[in-house]
Amino acid sequence: MTLRGRIFLATPGPTNVPDRVLRAMHRAAEDFAAPAFSGVARSCLDDLAKVFRTTGEVFSFIGNGHAAWEVPLVNLVEPGDTVLMPVSGRFSHYWAEMAEKLGLRTERLEMDRRLPLDVGRIADRLRADTEHRIKALLVVQTETATGIRSDIEAIRRALDEVRHPALFVVDAVASLAVEPFAMDDWGIDCALTASQKGLMSTPGLCFTAFNERALEVAESCRHPRRYFDICFRRGAMSYQWFHGTPPLQQIWGLREALDMLFEEGLGEVVERHRRLADAVRACVARWSEAGALSFHAMDPASRANGVTAIHTAPGIDPDAMRRSARDTYSTALGAGLGELEGRAFRIGHLGDLNEPMILGTLASVELAMRRSAIPFGRGGIEAAIESLALADAGVEAMSPARTTEPASLGITAA
Ligand SMILES: *Cc1c(COP(=O)(O)O)cnc(C)c1O
Repeated sequence: MTLRGRIFLATPGPTNVPDRVLRAMHRAAEDFAAPAFSGVARSCLDDLAKVFRTTGEVFSFIGNGHAAWEVPLVNLVEPGDTVLMPVSGRFSHYWAEMAEKLGLRTERLEMDRRLPLDVGRIADRLRADTEHRIKALLVVQTETATGIRSDIEAIRRALDEVRHPALFVVDAVASLAVEPFAMDDWGIDCALTASQKGLMSTPGLCFTAFNERALEVAESCRHPRRYFDICFRRGAMSYQWFHGTPPLQQIWGLREALDMLFEEGLGEVVERHRRLADAVRACVARWSEAGALSFHAMDPASRANGVTAIHTAPGIDPDAMRRSARDTYSTALGAGLGELEGRAFRIGHLGDLNEPMILGTLASVELAMRRSAIPFGRGGIEAAIESLALADAGVEAMSPARTTEPASLGITAA
C-alpha cells in the first residue's frame, strides 16, 4: 500500500523536526575552527543553559539520551560510591542498570509504576543514611514509559529537609521544553537531555548542564573517563567542546530549533504542551468509558504533558492496533515498554505540534481501534475539540479531562 501525505509521528521521541530545522541543516561542511562556526556552537550551548534555566555550564556530546545518562555517572561519582535511584519504569530501570555496570553501588527504590515518585520514601531513605554514603540522587522527571511526571521541587525540598548533601541529578530528556523546568531555582546540580524530544532536533546529540557545585565535584572526581570527561571540554576551542570534530550540520539545526523555541517563548512552549496534552486526556477519558482502555497514570495531576500511556484490557492486542495505525493510517504511536509491553500503547505529544496534528493523531487512533475491534467510548474527538476550544477561551479549569476524572477513578466528587 502506498502511503500519501505527511506521516504523523506521535512517538514520544524522536519527535517531528520542523522544516526550518531541516533546511538549516542543509549546508556544506566547513572549517569548524573558523569563528563563524564556533560562534554558533557557543551560542547553542549558552542558550541551552537558558532552556535549563541555569547559570551553570552546558556540555554537548555526540550521542543519544543513553549517552547523557553516563555523563553524571562518570563525572560526579567514583566506582564504589553509592547512588540512590528511584525506579518507576523502563527508563529509570535502564539508567540504574548503567550505574551498576559502571561500578557504582546502586541502591534502587522500586516505586509504584502508576504513581509519581514517592517523595516520602525518598526522604526516609535519605534520613536513614546518617553517614551520608549516598553521593548522588538520580531521578527522572517524566518517565516516558509510564507517562508520569514527578515533582522535582518536592524531591529537592526533601533533600533539604533531611539536610542530605547528595548531588541532585535529573533526567529531563522527555520534559525539557515541554514541562516547567528550572534547574537553579529547583536546586538541581546536574540535568540532562537529548536533542530529539522537546528540542525538536534530529537525534544524535545530548546535553548535560552542571552547576558550580557539580563542576567542582567533577574537577576532583577520579572516575576513569575520557570522551565523557566534562573537564576536558572546558577549553576555548570548539574542537575541545565536542572532543573532536563537531557535528556541524546538527549544530546549525539546533541553532534554528533554539531560535524557534525562543521566538515562541519558553513559557508559551510549556503552555502549548499543556493545552495539547489536555486535549489528548479529554479524548482518552471518553475512550475509557467503554471499559477496554484506561489511563496508566492513576493520579491525574501527574499525567505528563509530553506523553500519555494508555492501558488496554486483557485480550486486546495494542500492538496490532499500532501496526495498523502506522501501516494504514500513517500514524506512528509508542509501544508499551517494560511491564507494559503488550498491555498498553503511548501517544507522544511533545515537540513541534499543533492542534490539527493532535486531532489528526487522535482520529487516526480511533480509525485503527475500529479496525482492530477495540471497544472505545465515542465522542473522544469531540471532547478534544471541546478542551481546545475551552482553553482558547481561557477556561482551562473546566477541562473535560479534569471534570470526568473523579468518576473514572471511582472517587465521588465533593
Ligand atoms: C528518550 C528518553 C531517554 C533515552 O533517550 P535515547 O535518546 O533514546 O537514548 C532517557 N530518558 C528519558 C526520560 C527519555 O524519554
